[in-house]
Amino acid sequence: KTAEEDVEQEEDPQVPQEEEQEAENTVANFDLNDLRERIEGDIITPEDGPAFVEAAVIWNGDWKIRSSPMAIVQVRCTEDVQKSILYAKENKIGIAFRCGGHSMKGLSTSVGGMVIDLGKYMRKVEVDPEKRLVKFQGGCRIKDIDAEATKYDLCTVLGAVGNAGAGGLVSGGGLGHFTRKEGLSVDNVISAEVVCARGLLHNISSDSEPDLFWAIRGGQSNFGCIVSFTMRLFDCPKQILAGMILY
Ligand SMILES: Cc1cc2nc3c(=O)[nH]c(=O)nc-3n(C[C@H](O)[C@H](O)[C@H](O)COP(=O)(O)OP(=O)(O)OC[C@H]3O[C@@H](n4cnc5c(N)ncnc54)[C@H](O)[C@@H]3O)c2cc1C
Repeated sequence: KTAEEDVEQEEDPQVPQEEEQEAENTVANFDLNDLRERIEGDIITPEDGPAFVEAAVIWNGDWKIRSSPMAIVQVRCTEDVQKSILYAKENKIGIAFRCGGHSMKGLSTSVGGMVIDLGKYMRKVEVDPEKRLVKFQGGCRIKDIDAEATKYDLCTVLGAVGNAGAGGLVSGGGLGHFTRKEGLSVDNVISAEVVCARGLLHNISSDSEPDLFWAIRGGQSNFGCIVSFTMRLFDCPKQILAGMILY
């Protein structure tokens, strides 16, 4: 097609645009039972009424954002993420990954697509105080990680609000109380596990698939679903002196 034909098509009201096509997706068009039988997690659809309304809620900084996906898959494990991605791909359903749902632009939801939500079940945190590392799943909130790490008087660079999701915050850069001393969250990520579009799991670090490792540290959901992060820990100060300088 020529560029002119492309423009004509964009302006033709008869041609449904991508979002409209997605909006036409309904549960009735897809056999979600097929996926339901294959995963450990839950699938919630508009047919579930109030449970769906509750599951679709996002931290909505902009009231214009519509959160009305066709289905919300609350995954429990990496295999669930892999199977959900492959199902969506086979059926040409747009996907959005969700952790804490704090994207102010509504990037973790959609109209008519599938939300793959790690934030309900994938919140496991493992601290290795000897190696001073924390490994946490891609659905963790900031407060989940802080709570475990501070048991050992350790911490890392995360956000200032405990309810924000580490999935979006860390993969988006991450500014926290310790940023001036220790850098951004992404500067403290040692490795990650990512499921990409083919459904394969990649263990990535600066030594293994360094391009992908570079890309996910800032690229959020654009390169795959980050099912776990491993971050460096440092001593958590017992006292913090804070104040405001006005001039
Ligand atoms: C009240 C509030 C306080 C905040 N405070 C801070 C702060 O102190 N420091 C700071 O740096 N930022 C802060 N932010 C910004 C926040 O970091 C971003 O909005 C971030 O994207 C939220 O992450 P989330 O997981 O909660 O959001 P979500 O809406 O779940 O996800 C945001 C984006 O990340 C993607 N994503 C989420 N999880 C994954 C995953 N596991 N794998 C791949 N992609 C994923 C989503 O698809 C989406 O594109 C704050 C935001 C709010 C609303």
